[in-house]
Amino acid sequence: MEQIAVIGAGTMGNGIAHVFAQNGYKVNLVDISQASLDKGMANITKNLDRMISKKVIDEAKKEATLSNITTYTNLKEGVSNTDLVVEAATENLDIKLQIFKDLDKVCKADTILATNTSSISITQIGAVTNRSEKVIGMHFMNPVPIMKLVEIIRGYSTSDEVTETIMELSKKLGKTPTEVNDYPGFVANRILMPMINESIETLYNGVAGVGEIDTVMKLGMAHPMGPLQLADFIGLDVCLSILNVMYDGFKNPKYAPCPLLVNMVMAGKLGVKSGEGFYDYSESRKAENVSTQFK
Ligand code: NAD
Repeated sequence: MEQIAVIGAGTMGNGIAHVFAQNGYKVNLVDISQASLDKGMANITKNLDRMISKKVIDEAKKEATLSNITTYTNLKEGVSNTDLVVEAATENLDIKLQIFKDLDKVCKADTILATNTSSISITQIGAVTNRSEKVIGMHFMNPVPIMKLVEIIRGYSTSDEVTETIMELSKKLGKTPTEVNDYPGFVANRILMPMINESIETLYNGVAGVGEIDTVMKLGMAHPMGPLQLADFIGLDVCLSILNVMYDGFKNPKYAPCPLLVNMVMAGKLGVKSGEGFYDYSESRKAENVSTQFK
């Protein structure tokens, strides 16, 4: 593994490109939007500068990392000579299936195709290619340069050899890979999202307020942030969409999204990114002010 391509330069894609490049891999960062590529590179530079100020790396390491990354808006040019592609484009089934059909056509026959999807079936993605044994989930966590976990998801047809290669590669990135099978929500979201949904249900039922629910979970369970704050950070639309994938996938009412979550998403209250969710972020991004809706 020497030459890697990352598809999508957004929140996750630029973090994934950063981590590979800092560990010496040549990375082609591909996005349909030049503006996203520019923003992604600016974000990598900002994160490297922060690492210099914390004395984690030096200036030479920053330059070496940046020089390992080349940007492309053309998929074919960006992936034609790569050993591994990590797809981190927008979470939309049609977009992902089209990308994987295209990748299957233009990549070398032995290129491994990984996806960073949070909720789409690896098996379904693999099935649109002629190399489903080489399609695998590589679920990095946000922010990628900091978070140690990579959830490695085996699709129904993913081979042992490809799984082993990706597990070893993840270790070379300084991460801790964890192997799981491909069922809705994988492991991370299957456990996290029902907890978030239950915390919203607890609020909806009037058992306790926003601050109280988050305080119980922070101080009582030693969680670094409460579930409602975490939901705001992830994005309430993203939480709703993952719950719906699990609800549809298992046909089990325990995954049914709380009506309050559905209402908030319909009202455009998506959390940090829209400025308001369970907390109001107009003055501070630190979840210090509970939204007036819940006071
Ligand atoms: P994002 O919206 O920040 O970035 C998506 C990028 O994909 C954009 O720059 C967009 O221009 C680009 N894109 C869209 N269609 C494309 C195409 N056909 N070819 C190339 N680029 C294309 O999204 P994100 O939050 O970085 O999420 C990316 C993936 O990572 C999703 O599958 C998501 O489920 C997953 N994920 C996200 C998080 C998170 O916390 N944000 C965590 C884990 C996994």
